[in-house]
Amino acid sequence: MPCARGVDLKKLTGGGPGWMRKLPCRSASLEKMSCERYEEPPQADIEAEAVEVERLRERMRKIEPAIQALKRKHRGCTGSGSVECPAGCGGTLKYAISGNGHMHARCSTDGCLSFME
Ligand SMILES: [Zn+2]
Repeated sequence: MPCARGVDLKKLTGGGPGWMRKLPCRSASLEKMSCERYEEPPQADIEAEAVEVERLRERMRKIEPAIQALKRKHRGCTGSGSVECPAGCGGTLKYAISGNGHMHARCSTDGCLSFME
């Protein structure tokens, strides 16, 4: 199957065991080959990704105490409810906690919180 730049990656590496590890465009590659269509991602993309990662981290920092507080409130019992979204989006976070302490939650705002742990 060709990659986004139309290169048949398996063909490029010659296939065989571990062929994926030779790909020039995977950061985890051990023995990178060269590929004439390979380009470093544009700086703007790298920066946008860093901003996005930081935004997600910041959101985790914000919501983590609220999640822990909900778990303490239910203290190992099953429970469910809804609270104002701790991410500050203005939506409602609906959650359910199972007896073993696992929680799943989903915010009413599209693209906001949604997790299962
Ligand atoms: Zn939200």
